[in-house]
Amino acid sequence: MLKSKKQIAVIGGGAAGLCAAIEAARTANGQAEITVFEALGRCGKKILATGNGRCNLANTDTDLSHYHGDVSAVEDVFAHYSLQSALDFFKELGLFMRADAAGRIYPLSNQASAVLDALRFELDRLQIQVKTEQKITDIKKHNGEWLLNGTFAADFVVLACGGKAAPVHGSDGTGYVLAKQLCVQVEQPLPALTALVVDQFTKALKGIRAEGSITLKCAGKVLAFSAGEIQYTDYGLSGIPAMQVSGAVSRYLSKNEKSPCQVIVDRAPSVSAEELTAFIECAKKERPNLLCEDLLTGIMPKRLGVTVLTECSLQPQKPLTAMNTGVIPTLVAAIKNKKYKINSVCGFADAQVTAGGIPACEINTQTMELRKADGVFVCGELVNVDGDCGGYNLLWAWNSGRLAGANAAKRCLC
Ligand SMILES: Cc1cc2nc3c(=O)[nH]c(=O)nc-3n(C[C@H](O)[C@H](O)[C@H](O)COP(=O)(O)OP(=O)(O)OC[C@H]3O[C@@H](n4cnc5c(N)ncnc54)[C@H](O)[C@@H]3O)c2cc1C
Repeated sequence: MLKSKKQIAVIGGGAAGLCAAIEAARTANGQAEITVFEALGRCGKKILATGNGRCNLANTDTDLSHYHGDVSAVEDVFAHYSLQSALDFFKELGLFMRADAAGRIYPLSNQASAVLDALRFELDRLQIQVKTEQKITDIKKHNGEWLLNGTFAADFVVLACGGKAAPVHGSDGTGYVLAKQLCVQVEQPLPALTALVVDQFTKALKGIRAEGSITLKCAGKVLAFSAGEIQYTDYGLSGIPAMQVSGAVSRYLSKNEKSPCQVIVDRAPSVSAEELTAFIECAKKERPNLLCEDLLTGIMPKRLGVTVLTECSLQPQKPLTAMNTGVIPTLVAAIKNKKYKINSVCGFADAQVTAGGIPACEINTQTMELRKADGVFVCGELVNVDGDCGGYNLLWAWNSGRLAGANAAKRCLC
């Protein structure tokens, strides 16, 4: 039987795949049939988990320094599909959005489901077929077509399987298996935007949340820095600053296994060392009977302050008169420059994104087509691009997905 229309298969119904399917259908304008193959029972499960259920879908600051890996790919994709075009895309789908003070963009309803609904309704309107519980594990060329799992034939394919982070949402690394079947090399996937596992961590800190900054310093070089609310866990450091530096830690440790790296935590970043010194000297003079444990309560949570004192061998229950003046520089250093040796980061199960993946050299980043597999396009987290926390990963997924989908459809029109 003659096929009347070209077939485009999108493998993966996440952020990138859904946008690829929509853009392909719009571009093909009825000249192609688009089918999304999704491994799970429904599309977009991860979208629902993003931004703590609120979906931080983009950021007003699109500086490329927020991206890591093959940043040239981001530059190329964003030249075709910018932040504004992503916002217009969602606005057209009926989604109103707002940015918070840090530039993080959320749906006005503050519900991630609103973003997924907007995409789902457009999929329906464009009559895009969605095949759920269809995990594609095999791709090969057969009689000029791409054969998926030996059953489904497609003229063009978009690989949008995500990476390995948060496999509970479907991204279990099968995308790399498919890429390898196409003889495409893959940069080692590593967990990023995850917590740091600290050597000899003080369990007493567990549960504390406090403002702080983290500087990643390896072999004498500062590799990353981030400030915000640090969450202390029983194994190490979490919260946005820890997550932001975790990709750089992962990359460093993957290449320098035998040389663990170090983070320096400033537990009072808004107070200078000089101010702290003056404050402690003054407290010692003016309030000699104050208990040591109450010294830092105006600067950090009491439990964190007590741990800092203990680290400096000070007894929290003793009054300030008992504190030797000579210990003040040690105390200030413990607050401003606490060093932790990092042995590892938490694994893919806890990571929000994957660093590594298909490198830009394997892709024509003007179209997202693989150089070694004619008619196969890639997008999203599967590519060797990862962004900071703050909406950067979804923006990459929407935009790279749209570029891949549009170009797969353009090929149908030739
Ligand atoms: C908890 C959490 C919170 C996050 N919050 C944010 C945030 O607020 N802002 C932000 O920018 N980023 C956030 N991220 C990151 C962001 O969600 C991802 O980078 C983005 O969703 C990647 O999109 P993707 O479509 O490339 O991959 P995915 O979203 O992982 O989608 C891949 C899809 O493909 C399917 N699939 C995989 N393999 C196959 C196969 N072989 N056959 C068929 N289907 C397959 C999967 O089931 C999945 O549905 C968060 C991530 C997590 C885990």
